[in-house]
Amino acid sequence: MEHNTSNFIRNIVKEDLETGKRDYVITRFPPEPNGYLHIGHAKSIVLNFELADEFKGKTNLRFDDTNPLKEDVEYVNSIKEDVTWLGYDWDGLFFASDYFEEMYERAVLLIKKGLAYVDDLSAAEIREYRGTLTQPGKESPFRNRSIEENLDLFNKMRNGEFKDGEKVLRAKIDMTSPNINLRDPVIYRIAHATHHNTGDAWCIYPMYAFAHPLEDAIENVTHSICTTEFEDQRPLYNWIIENCETESKPQQIEFGRLNLTNTVMSKRKLKQLVDEGIVDGWDDPRMPTISGLRRKGYTPEAIRTFCREIGVAKAFSTVNSQMLEHFVREDLKLKAPRTMGIVRPLKVVITNYPEGEVEWLDAEINPENPEMGIRKIPFSREIYIEQDDFMENPPAKYFRLFPGNEVRLKHAYFIKCNDVVKDENGNVIELHCTYDVETKSGSGFTGRKVKGTIHWVEASKAIPAEFRLYEPLILDDQKQEEGETFLDHINPNSLEILQGYIEENMKDVQPQDKFQFFRHGYFNVDPKHTSKDHVVFNQIVSLKSSFRI
Ligand code: ATP
Ligand code: MG
Ligand code: MG
Repeated sequence: MEHNTSNFIRNIVKEDLETGKRDYVITRFPPEPNGYLHIGHAKSIVLNFELADEFKGKTNLRFDDTNPLKEDVEYVNSIKEDVTWLGYDWDGLFFASDYFEEMYERAVLLIKKGLAYVDDLSAAEIREYRGTLTQPGKESPFRNRSIEENLDLFNKMRNGEFKDGEKVLRAKIDMTSPNINLRDPVIYRIAHATHHNTGDAWCIYPMYAFAHPLEDAIENVTHSICTTEFEDQRPLYNWIIENCETESKPQQIEFGRLNLTNTVMSKRKLKQLVDEGIVDGWDDPRMPTISGLRRKGYTPEAIRTFCREIGVAKAFSTVNSQMLEHFVREDLKLKAPRTMGIVRPLKVVITNYPEGEVEWLDAEINPENPEMGIRKIPFSREIYIEQDDFMENPPAKYFRLFPGNEVRLKHAYFIKCNDVVKDENGNVIELHCTYDVETKSGSGFTGRKVKGTIHWVEASKAIPAEFRLYEPLILDDQKQEEGETFLDHINPNSLEILQGYIEENMKDVQPQDKFQFFRHGYFNVDPKHTSKDHVVFNQIVSLKSSFRI
């Protein structure tokens, strides 16, 4: 596999190995199984796996499942599927919940050292006592309980003798610290809830800030890579590693989260879109989830290249989502067969073509990759073209079809429009054209030139197909006003469903097959809505973009 381009984390790892601070590298990807993975997670996956791979180290997939209220096996399974699909093999597969006993013992050790206490203050009181950036915190009246009393109360917490919220265990650090994270953070809370892995074995659960460094230490992780929201927690991370006396000493390193334009990138918000029925599940092609991108037609190669190319820096970055599109175009350019499809059909009768006759024309499968060979396409007296490739009263510089004008049909002949057939409301429903047999594609005809080339599909053998065209789900060019949320900026036109036609040679397409439709861009066969007699295409990306990298 290709490796990361240089970045500051790679430099740290390299130096740690060169100076002998470390003699091996272990990283981890630690999702909480409370939702599906998104493209932001892909950045972390690529970084962690490729960094370890480069230095002959290991990467664990670890489920950070310390909150029973939001976690589910459905998410565990989807995460495994997505990491595998992206192309990575984890070394160890771990669950933080398997370490609950060991974490409990480390908490007992802190109590015995006088470094943790059971607090009876309510969550609201704890928040109030914590103080602010400009104001020091206040000590809880329960802060100076004896070690014996704390051990007894913590044991009773474990045994289920208290209700949710009645008591918590806090690290005893410094209520006046300028770093609020060090003002006696809560490290255990009570939750009488069934956990997806440990069932009802526990009713107390460690908080993320306490659990995470221990998970890393237990797995001998050397470089614990996370995003910059956790920068202020690093002193607490180190405090826990030091005071819990773990043998292994992992190091936390932060990098800037990925954000994309026109995209919400938080599992909480994505779950809201799913729960409120705004999208068709976590794998809706408009979602920035790995499963949504897969269903839309993105390839793992395109996502990996994107993640490598955006780079890794401390600063939080918002990347233009057109950059992601750029990489999928690049990846599919040589791989995807070319074809023609009509998304808004308009019937054309070629009046001088013999009735009942069908001829088969040759068309290159991929002019940029000639090894893919040729395909056969039928041509006859009736074809479909796109409605917007015809205008009755065109403006200047319109080179497609209009009365009296001649265009080239891709891979076939020149046709000239003679008559327009309308329904009783004046809508154009059919065109009558004539073709010129001498202008056949590939015949070397040079007698005259036409300015427009349009695509078409022969009518009698065309296969009906559904086309789903997408626009960004979120409109973020407008400012979010006071009181508004991202839900007030949903694009009402994010999905357009059209019924059209595809070439006869596509009768056996399979879910996830990808094609480049002439002039329409790249499309993927939708795995959810496609059935034996109804094929649905998701537009992956249009052909061209003004975007340059
Ligand atoms: P979210 O806020 O979307 O729920 P999270 O950080 O809470 O994300 P986790 O399941 O804890 O989700 O994430 C697993 C790993 O993926 C973490 O190491 C986290 O830092 C990383 N990660 C999550 N979102 C991004 C992002 N947008 N960019 C880069 N890394 C990310
Ligand atoms: Mg998290
Ligand atoms: Mg989260």
